[in-house]
Amino acid sequence: MDDEKGLKSNLLVNTGILIDPLENSQIKVWALFLKDALKKELSSQFPQFAWRFGIIERHDFPKALPKDPLTLLEFGSDIKIENNYDFLLVLTSLPLKARFSQGISAVPSSMLETAVISLSKILECKKEEIKKTGAINLIKHILGHLWGLDHDDSSVMKPRKSWCHERPLDWNHEEKRHIANFLNSVADPRVEETAGTKNTFLFYLRVLINEGPSLLRDIIFFRSWRMFLNLGRFTAATAVSIIFLFLSAEAWEMGAAIQSKWLDIILFLVIIASTLSLYFGQNLQGIGKSDKMKEQAVRSRIILFGTLFIGMASFWLNLLLISFVIINLLPQKVIAGWAGIEGNTLPVFHFSKLMATFGILASSVGGNLEEEQDIKAVLIYTEET
Ligand SMILES: [Zn+2]
Repeated sequence: MDDEKGLKSNLLVNTGILIDPLENSQIKVWALFLKDALKKELSSQFPQFAWRFGIIERHDFPKALPKDPLTLLEFGSDIKIENNYDFLLVLTSLPLKARFSQGISAVPSSMLETAVISLSKILECKKEEIKKTGAINLIKHILGHLWGLDHDDSSVMKPRKSWCHERPLDWNHEEKRHIANFLNSVADPRVEETAGTKNTFLFYLRVLINEGPSLLRDIIFFRSWRMFLNLGRFTAATAVSIIFLFLSAEAWEMGAAIQSKWLDIILFLVIIASTLSLYFGQNLQGIGKSDKMKEQAVRSRIILFGTLFIGMASFWLNLLLISFVIINLLPQKVIAGWAGIEGNTLPVFHFSKLMATFGILASSVGGNLEEEQDIKAVLIYTEET
């Protein structure tokens, strides 16, 4: 037992704090304060890990205002991978651009293991002490997300409008246990430290074997099923094309002519093709580009593609259900007439599958109408808070 404990105490959690020293005179003071405060706090709460915080100063920060969290996440993620940090916090005192909500203080991305934190609202809190406690509380909330926690009203994981607090907030007992487990897996050596291969295919395979279950968890719980709620044009294009399909006799005739087993193959190909078309159409392959053979970069790419694929597949399932309901509501005789199969029972399920498949084709076109930045943000952000 003692041996095991001794071994675990060596596990290093290495976190970077990235700042732009040209931003103003305060930011460096804040980075230094947070570095010490976080190290002290986390070392006392999780003594089984060795906590290291490093400050990185970069003069080539994206300059546009308000700061776009998406740009900063990508900027930070590249620097994190280059410098072999486990996690990276991009710290700024300037306001952030909000995409899906209003007045935000931070955007974590558990996929990129990177977060953007703005102190701009906290710097408006009244007392110096409140600012400090507030900033630590906010960062604990964000770190909680990076370490796989969801919201919980009983702890620091409660979402809040204001982070001006006098009182330090904490994770609850259950959350601390989860964090310790999560960090144990993160602090394991990365694949590039153990694999010793220069072959891209073998490297991807190694990552898949080592990380399969955790990748799957990330993909399925990475809100892939909610992906399209935030993408208006995408959903609209699908809805419009489905309505036209329902009204055109050709679609029904074609449905009658296609055998069910062929339809299954076509369906699979269509989902793959539309995932690929979104992935490359939206330049998602550019994420984590700084180094091809780093576990974290490969992880991000697998998660991104997987999320898109699962998102497409669940979108298809929704379309199938909707089509099934609509076909049942329409007069069966008329449809049978359109399909040219008068007198036979209408294969409702077969036609629902066909319509849903057409819908997915249309949606991949619609998806490419979305702003590139928005679709990326939906996939990469864990939340805006
Ligand atoms: Zn949150």
